[in-house]
Amino acid sequence: LFAGPVDFVKGVTTMAALPPADRVEVCFAGRSNVGKSSLINALTGRKSLARASNTPGRTQEINYFALGESRYLVDLPGYGFAEAPVAVVRKWQELLRAYLAGRQTLRRAFVLIDTRHGIKQVDDEILGLLDKSAVTFQVVMTKADKVNQATREANIAQVMAALQKHPAAYPEIIVTSSEKGEGVETLRAVIATLE
Ligand code: GDP
Repeated sequence: LFAGPVDFVKGVTTMAALPPADRVEVCFAGRSNVGKSSLINALTGRKSLARASNTPGRTQEINYFALGESRYLVDLPGYGFAEAPVAVVRKWQELLRAYLAGRQTLRRAFVLIDTRHGIKQVDDEILGLLDKSAVTFQVVMTKADKVNQATREANIAQVMAALQKHPAAYPEIIVTSSEKGEGVETLRAVIATLE
């Protein structure tokens, strides 16, 4: 898929522990339960590469996966988890800020948005952080199989309108369903072409 094996590299909780910045990398962000693990698994063709549930103790880790020899896929912790203690949220925000602002090899952030819900305030905060960090982000709509055509179109329109006020937004979105495979090849192709 990406000219070489796809493998888990490491989970990190500090900037110092990041792997050497010697590959192109993309990161995946989204609210808890948005379908991030499912999408990463569909994308890599590996059934349980990304943990399909968020183990509480591991929620602050930034997980690195090697896509072949020359790219990293970075799985950021899910955000907006209501039960997370304030101190945990703070620590994660600090790490996220440092990562987004400081990672030279980060080429694009994929921000996952549930097709059923569109962009919520907690998503918009992340988009604002991406603007500030000048990290180009692309919205990936998830679980498209769960909505009817009318909801799909309405929520895509809501997202497109919301992107207008974000200077770091990439102007095209990708609509996906891990369940049905919709959009997965498109997303894979986008990642494969980033240099
Ligand atoms: P994460 O917390 O963002 O990693 O979310 P998961 O990948 O664990 O998915 C959360 C829930 O949504 C699980 O029950 C998945 O089976 C379900 N899910 C994820 N992607 C899809 C999809 O494309 N279609 C449908 N119908 N369900 C999905």
